[in-house]
Amino acid sequence: ALHNTIQELKGNIRVICRVRPLLPFENSNGEDSEIHHINFPRGDATKLELEKLIDGNPNESTMSTASTRGGGKYQFLFDKVFTPASSQQEVFDEISQLVQSALDGYNVCIFAYGQTGSGKTYTMEGPDHPDDTSVGMIPRAVMQVFRSAKALQDKGWQYDMSASFMEIYNESLRDLLSADGKEQKHDIRLKKADNDVEVSNMIVVNVAGEAEVYKLLKMASRNRVVAATNCNERSSRSHSVFRMRLIGKNSLTDESCNGVPPWPQLRRLKESGSEGKRLEETKNINKSLSTLGQVILALANKDTHVPYRNSKLTFLLQNSLGGNSKTLMFVNVSPKEEHFNETLNSLRFATKVN
Ligand code: ADP
Repeated sequence: ALHNTIQELKGNIRVICRVRPLLPFENSNGEDSEIHHINFPRGDATKLELEKLIDGNPNESTMSTASTRGGGKYQFLFDKVFTPASSQQEVFDEISQLVQSALDGYNVCIFAYGQTGSGKTYTMEGPDHPDDTSVGMIPRAVMQVFRSAKALQDKGWQYDMSASFMEIYNESLRDLLSADGKEQKHDIRLKKADNDVEVSNMIVVNVAGEAEVYKLLKMASRNRVVAATNCNERSSRSHSVFRMRLIGKNSLTDESCNGVPPWPQLRRLKESGSEGKRLEETKNINKSLSTLGQVILALANKDTHVPYRNSKLTFLLQNSLGGNSKTLMFVNVSPKEEHFNETLNSLRFATKVN
């Protein structure tokens, strides 16, 4: 309950920071890349310290007043911080309750934010050839949804589930589940009646088990690779949105419902996306990303006007961000020294949100 109160105060956006490990080939890049400038204060998994080392020495200037160019220490607070040693399972344990609330009728949106190479894809989808321990958040969430739905059958719940997977690049939408690669025109529409967001000409596949969803995930990832090879910039500037819709009806409750139209329906929706590059650099070229930043900040500040309509991504996610929905943002950062400035930018943005 205490946790819930804190969430309400914070406008329902939880922020989890994850620092990826240095990769084996990064380690052998010479001594410079081994300077550790990210600290995790012991015994407090919500804090992260970023330390800028100059010529290998920490500059003793005061906390958080240091300029980017000078040395210094910066401290950040999140709902949770995961270190390079954290496993996918540990990360999932932190979000599984949120996934569960999709079955309770909430719109749930989980997305990853951070520069290219910071670990967004690894976190959300897992590595290219995952094993049991490295599977990402999306397949784990999908598995949990099906398991929980099965367990809820005893209580009379039946769920219709469907999935879609799309990509936004340069303010145009593409269907990642379309096999023939023929580009269709996709329009986003908000249906006032039920506050549902509909995308025209988008393939929506009914799914009855996790294996079916995994097939779709593979297909989407293949389609994305094709697009990325055709356009180098694409993978770092595009946003992909995996969306699963759960519609639950309870036959038992309905029996006691006394003539109310058949099957009281609860709309349940879960969305996950991985975001492209960092905010500053792409302000002018990546409208969806900069608008996402503005939307998230507007929600965090409880502004009366939230500029959802200013980009495709935020228009698409409008009923999953803010309002009665539950939103979780991963801010992924790289431990590499040369990424210091981007890391600082990401962390600063992310703390403004939470
Ligand atoms: P992004 O999607 O943000 O561009 P990636 O997810 O592709 O970044 O991560 C960059 C590289 O780091 C990949 O080779 C990925 O496998 C690796 N990586 C990222 N996070 C982790 C992690 N937690 N553990 C092991 N390897 C990781």
